[in-house]
Amino acid sequence: MVVAKDSQLVYDTEPGEVNNLESAKWKSRTMAWLWQAFTDDQIYKRNSNSGHRCFRLDETELINGEYYPKIHVLQTDMTTAQIQAEKSDLFGMCKNVVLNNPTKFIKPQNLPLQFTCLFLDSHYIPNEDRVAGHAALGSGWNSDYNWGIFGSHLLYSHPQNLTEMKNKFNDIRPVNKKYTSNDGGDYRARVCNVGIGAFLHELGHSFGLYHNYGVMHRGFDNFNRAFYSVELSTNNVWTSLRTNVDDQYASWSKVDAEIMLPHHLFRLKNDPIIDMVDKNIQLFTTSSNSFILYANVVILKNGRMVELGKIFSEVNNGLITADVFKTQRFGPVYENQVEFNVDFTVNNNARLLTIGVYYDNYVHGLEFTYTDNTVRFFGYKIGNKGSFSLVNKELRVLRVQSGAWIDALQFCFSATDCTQQFGGTISGQWSAEFNLDIIGSSQFYKVSGLNGAFIEKYNPDWTVNTMSSITVLYKKV
Ligand SMILES: [Zn+2]
Repeated sequence: MVVAKDSQLVYDTEPGEVNNLESAKWKSRTMAWLWQAFTDDQIYKRNSNSGHRCFRLDETELINGEYYPKIHVLQTDMTTAQIQAEKSDLFGMCKNVVLNNPTKFIKPQNLPLQFTCLFLDSHYIPNEDRVAGHAALGSGWNSDYNWGIFGSHLLYSHPQNLTEMKNKFNDIRPVNKKYTSNDGGDYRARVCNVGIGAFLHELGHSFGLYHNYGVMHRGFDNFNRAFYSVELSTNNVWTSLRTNVDDQYASWSKVDAEIMLPHHLFRLKNDPIIDMVDKNIQLFTTSSNSFILYANVVILKNGRMVELGKIFSEVNNGLITADVFKTQRFGPVYENQVEFNVDFTVNNNARLLTIGVYYDNYVHGLEFTYTDNTVRFFGYKIGNKGSFSLVNKELRVLRVQSGAWIDALQFCFSATDCTQQFGGTISGQWSAEFNLDIIGSSQFYKVSGLNGAFIEKYNPDWTVNTMSSITVLYKKV
């Protein structure tokens, strides 16, 4: 738990509700237990060989003989105002505060340190309808530090212990936006789901998971359904549920389980040591709604990394069978945005001739010129314009750097023949929920189209008229 140096040590609630540090700690402990219980159940369902298991938590004896998840309350040298500033780097702050406390957090040798930060000084500002001092981000899997962050603005809806669970997950009172954020839902049960589940989503990123479905999609909206077979509807009627009949609800997917299980925090003492560490794991949906797993695989031998190269395989049977597949969506689509689709192969029988990109530290506009001189333009002509020709060239790989926006695009014709990187070249991950995502350079596929989104109207008061999301379509050559 990260607090400002002048923190009031409270969090947002409606008047009269308890919001002290002690309650925040108990809510966090309970949340961590729910994450564990959920993960244990899901891993068991997705991977019958592993049995029940979940990630280990650092625990401490709070009451005689009773152990609880350990919460460190760490003070930063930032003020509340600095934490709540619109451009505060909460993500970097979380890592720094851990690095600055080396006696509390001991990184295991040759293994990453895993942690989450809850920012206690988050605050909902009703006039601006904005939560200050909050960000939902996860680091992606790295070999040194992996972490997820979240604000305290939804804590008000959380259970403080297991006996409060049923009430909190079925609390259909509307959110009072005079005092509290309705992030994710207009009634408190939904806020509770999002508060616990979206933070788990960020923890999932830190284990190397990517957006696919279940919790790594929006399945956390129904996190309660992982625990209960009934829920209270907003019209005050108890509804029976068949939970998790498919993966759209709160669930870890089979692939999530495969990625998490080799993690050292999931290992049992007598497990064979699996030294294989996957990094850059990506999941793609295919046109037939199956999945393709893509990974750069390394093996650690005596602490030394040995690159093995890339693996492409369809999750179900180890073969790529689809003719067309699309990548995960990089970056979010925001409410005020419109989506666009571009097919590179045909436009009224014309072929794509050049692609132009308008960019500065972000990508603002895309221009597609076809052999019949038609031009399709999406976004805004802001920043520099770069362009390249597709004459006698086949676009095989599109690289995307994304976080809250599309930061940069790069187009490749082979593994070594690429355009410049159009956009910001900041390599750090501080702003990116996704890392730089390198899409497989399989020689059997080429880029066949794009889907993306821009804000609907240019906004002069808002500097980021930026592309926010992109999906790349691949077709078998
Ligand atoms: Zn995410």
